[in-house]
Parts: sequence; structure tokens; C-alpha cells
Amino acid sequence: MHKYDYIIIGAGLSGLTLAAELADYLLDNNKTLLIIDPDFTHFTNRTWSFWTQDPAPYADISLQTWDHIRIAHGRQELWKPIAPFTYVSIDGSSFRRQKLEELAKNPQISYQQDTIVNRMQQQDKLVSLKGEQHTYIAEYVFDSSFDIQQLKDYEGVQLYQQFVGYFIRSKRGLGNQKMVDMMDFRTEQKEAIAFFYVLPFKDQTLVEYTLFTDTIRERRLFEEKLEAYLANKFDPGAYTIVDQEEGIIPMSSYRFRSKHSHIIPIGTAGGCSKASSGYTFTFAQRQAKRIVRSLQAKKSLKGKVFSGSGRFDFYDRTILRIFYKHPERSAAILTQLFALNPTEQVLKFLNNETSIWEEIKLFSSLPIPLFSKYALLELLKPGRK
Ligand SMILES: Cc1cc2nc3c(=O)[nH]c(=O)nc-3n(C[C@H](O)[C@H](O)[C@H](O)COP(=O)(O)OP(=O)(O)OC[C@H]3O[C@@H](n4cnc5c(N)ncnc54)[C@H](O)[C@@H]3O)c2cc1C
Repeated sequence: MHKYDYIIIGAGLSGLTLAAELADYLLDNNKTLLIIDPDFTHFTNRTWSFWTQDPAPYADISLQTWDHIRIAHGRQELWKPIAPFTYVSIDGSSFRRQKLEELAKNPQISYQQDTIVNRMQQQDKLVSLKGEQHTYIAEYVFDSSFDIQQLKDYEGVQLYQQFVGYFIRSKRGLGNQKMVDMMDFRTEQKEAIAFFYVLPFKDQTLVEYTLFTDTIRERRLFEEKLEAYLANKFDPGAYTIVDQEEGIIPMSSYRFRSKHSHIIPIGTAGGCSKASSGYTFTFAQRQAKRIVRSLQAKKSLKGKVFSGSGRFDFYDRTILRIFYKHPERSAAILTQLFALNPTEQVLKFLNNETSIWEEIKLFSSLPIPLFSKYALLELLKPGRK
């Protein structure tokens, strides 16, 4: 049996972000960390995008940055500069490679290829993990393993952000290189919120069809929508699909928490996927910083989640209710939010960075009766349908 101070389950976004944040703390306090993942060499294709005001974070591994976004709905096309923000895309595999190389230099950190199949809290407050290969013991475990099926029996308000993306190469690009098509709602919006998301990279373009849907759909549907979209833009044979990615991100009012006080869920499993947008990257960075600050301040981590964002959680759950109940109206509401407010304010709000006064201004530009109704429902029946 191997014993560590800390174990991180999962060498993905949140696991490696937390390990990197912990690195100095481990050295300064002579603490040991083990990172466990079934596979350290391959990582499923993922492009992580986010907007930030920080000077070029991950500049060395960013695929590209943009300073404009477009929102399109019906006849409305909004081209918006996003300064002081920059929209950044990084490749998940490069992020992972970089972090693993960086962490390999730290003598307090070790790695184990294994799949955890059981987690048990022991009497003496240690956690015991059973893997397919070995058993491990730690004081605290940070667990990023997550399976969307875990939410299938949840009865509260919930949608899935489901998407399929094609990376295409073509002689002629798909539009303006300087601009991200953040939400192109010019597609059917009947039973689910639906949009195309386009990232024009220098040598290829990522086109995604995304649904905010209450049931997980067949992949074929996404392929048909993407093929129709591309057929509309290109002559037959004028583009090649060079790669693909797909995903399902929870947009849920479920309160992610651990069943064991010494196992702290992190990343998507720890509530970092924003319920109203599915964006996770920024929130996983913040969660890691909060955990390390608590350790440095010698605060107990017992039973904590580190992803709560106070009033923003309430806003997210209210907005999620509207998306859930009125998918047919939601595209217009989101477009209106961008049309009637400075983009900087909207992006700040979506990053949980606005002040209450800024939020009041944003809300006043939206259908007030609808928002009041669902805010009240959320107050009376938190999370419940
Ligand atoms: C295709 C795709 C694109 C996305 N794009 C964006 C984006 O643009 N912007 C954004 O903000 N968010 C995006 N997301 C959402 C989110 O950022 C990612 O899902 C992110 O990877 C979540 O980080 P995580 O650490 O929670 O999980 P992961 O990065 O998936 O890491 C979990 C790790 O745990 C390991 N693991 C699982 N089970 C076990 C087990 N039993 N034992 C040991 N290890 C285990 C896995 O192998 C994996 O390495 C995207 C998601 C997907 C799927």
C-alpha cells in the first residue's frame, strides 16, 4: 500500500492545473503528491477556449487569439470587439504535455498509471483508493473523474451541452480570420437551443454544432447539421475534414459535492462547468487557486468544493431554468444581451466578474417578467423543476 499526503485522480484540465498550483506548496512543506490517470500519453482531442484580460496566458501553447466575436440570430449580426478581453484557444494535448514536463521536475510529485475503481474514507480520516493495479492512501484526494451518466438520475433542472466539431481545411477560409463565431443561432431552435460555433485558425477551421438539450442526442444529428452548414458555404469537395472533436458538458443545477469529507471533487466533477454556459477552463483555474490558498492558510479542506460563486450560482440556475423552459426564446434573449450591452460587461458577467450594479444594468436589458418569474421559482424551489 502506497501512502501520500495528497492524491489527484485524473491528469486532465483540473488535475494538472491543481498540481501546477500546488507545486511550490509541496516543496515548501515537504508534502507528497501522486497523480493517477489511466493514460498519460494520449488525451482525447480537446480545444479549450476562454476569454481573459490577463496578458496572453498560455501564450506559448495557444493555438490562436482573437479580439472580435460575432453573435448572429435571424437578420441580426453583431460584430463585437471584446477589448480588454482576448479570446484564446489552446490545445488540450499541448497543455497536458507542457504541464507534465513542468511537474516532472518536482521531486515531491509522482505519477501512477491506474484506474481508480473504489474510494473509501477510513476511520482515521485517511482516504483509501483502490485502483485496478494498486491500493493508495492519502490525507486528501482531489478527484476529477466524471462520467456524464452520473447525472442521468438527477431530477432537478438540467441540460446537456452536446456538440460535435469538424476541423476542416479548405483553400478559402470560412470567413473572417480575426473573429470567432461565438454563437450563430441561424438554425432551428425548437426543442433545444442550437448554434454553430466557428474558430478560424490560421491553417484550419473548427466548426461545431452545439445543442443545449435535455436529452442526449444521436451523433448522426450533429453530422447532418454540420454537413448541411458546410454544403451551404463550400462547393462539393472544396474542403477536407482533417480531425473531429465531440463532447457533452453538464449544464446543471445539481450541487456537486463529495460523499467523503476528505475527497474533494474538482473540475467538471467539482462544479466548475458553468451551469448557464458550460465554460469550464477559467473556473477550474480559480478552483485550483482557492484550494492552494486554503492549504497555505492552514484551513481545513474537509467537505469543501471550492467552486461556489455566491450570487452567480443563483443567476446561473435562473438562466438555466429559462433555457430549459423556453429553448425557443433563448437565442433571442442571448442575442439581446449582447446587442444592448457593452460586450466587455457581458463577458465580465459570464466570467462571474461583474459588480451588483453592473448586473442590474445587464438584467434591465432582458425580459424582466420572465427573469423575475424564474428567479422567484429558483428562490422558492432551488434547483427543482
Ligand atoms: C471536446 C471538448 C471541448 C471543450 N471545450 C471547452 C472550451 O472551449 N472551454 C471551456 O471552458 N471548456 C471546454 N470544455 C469543458 C471542459 O473544459 C473540459 O471537459 C475539461 O477537460 C474538464 O476538465 P476536468 O479536469 O474536469 O476533466 P478532464 O480534463 O476530462 O480530466 C479528467 C481526467 O480524469 C481521468 N480519469 C477519469 N476516470 C478516472 C479514474 N477512474 N481513475 C483515474 N483517472 C481517471 C481521465 O483520464 C482524465 O484525464 C470542453 C470539453 C470537451 C469534451
